[in-house]
Amino acid sequence: MPGKRVVVTGGAGFLGSHLCERLLADGHRVICLDNFLTGVPANVEHLMPNPDFTLTRCDITDFLHVPGPVDLVLHFASPASPIDYLRLPIQTLKVGAIGTWHALGLAKDKGARFLLASTSEVYGDPQVHPQPEEYWGHVNPLGPRGVYDEAKRYAEALTTAYRTSESLDTAIVRIFNTYGPRMRPEDGRAIPTFIRQALAVSPLTVAGDGTQTRSVCYVSDTVDGVLRLAFGDHAGPVNIGNPDERSVLTIAQDVIAITRTTSSIEFVDRPVDDPAVRRPDTTRARKLLDWEPQVEWHDGLRKTVEWFRHAVHEPLSAPPG
Ligand code: NAD
Repeated sequence: MPGKRVVVTGGAGFLGSHLCERLLADGHRVICLDNFLTGVPANVEHLMPNPDFTLTRCDITDFLHVPGPVDLVLHFASPASPIDYLRLPIQTLKVGAIGTWHALGLAKDKGARFLLASTSEVYGDPQVHPQPEEYWGHVNPLGPRGVYDEAKRYAEALTTAYRTSESLDTAIVRIFNTYGPRMRPEDGRAIPTFIRQALAVSPLTVAGDGTQTRSVCYVSDTVDGVLRLAFGDHAGPVNIGNPDERSVLTIAQDVIAITRTTSSIEFVDRPVDDPAVRRPDTTRARKLLDWEPQVEWHDGLRKTVEWFRHAVHEPLSAPPG
């Protein structure tokens, strides 16, 4: 469906930058809005020469004005890693509430379809496993992660209200842990942390005993799922994530194997409200979007490690045999 004019809020972040790249490759025009709170202009620098790409620095909680027609609003602006939203609790709540309200208002003014980037965190520390979209979740609103989880739950409610009371064409995608190039090495999430530690030949810090599980999806698969929903007509919510569940300890061991580091594993305290298990039920994505993740874990990890080696860290001088 070429030739759409698409606004991406948070477009200079990890997921947003990959979305902008793929949209341009598919022949769309992209307006990227970002205040660089947790993203960086460098993530989209390579897109700047493209005449179909515009980058505007703005805080979408202040105002959101886009001249000209808009066909689609992809609302991705929000701190997303625990280290960021614990450091930026008010900004996280504001962008989930006021930022989402402004983004919905923009879609309404322009007669555009609106897609909310929600998260598996709306399921909290789940008591149902794997998590289908019908599950209401198990969230502690007063816990440290509440600022993110509740911001996204509110954003889902607001999006739904615009759909039902304003007849806005909306969609909600619940994204599960995604990894790949352009994650920040210091963003606190397990995979970039392990890769950074492995490349620095420091111990890999595994929280708890490492038996807690994560299902991680390579970024190109997540982007593909998001865009299938965005360019379709389903409202969702739809889970997008890789059902291939693995323990945090095995993730650390795989990073050690792929980087060929001599780093050891060090067990540290688990953060408060850290979910014990997380795995998407992707039945709906398969049925409605004909979507399934394509990138195998070791391939995705290898690509991510390569990016970290070249973009972030000098290669290990003498990898052990
Ligand atoms: P990110 O921090 O890399 O990107 C978020 C972007 O939003 C950043 O560039 C940041 O500067 C921008 N931003 C934040 N507040 C803003 C504001 N008020 N105005 C304008 N821009 C603002 O995070 P990410 O991992 O790319 O996540 C993007 C979205 O996807 C988030 O909404 C997140 O909740 C959702 N998500 C991500 C994951 C994941 O695994 N990465 C999983 C679930 C959901």
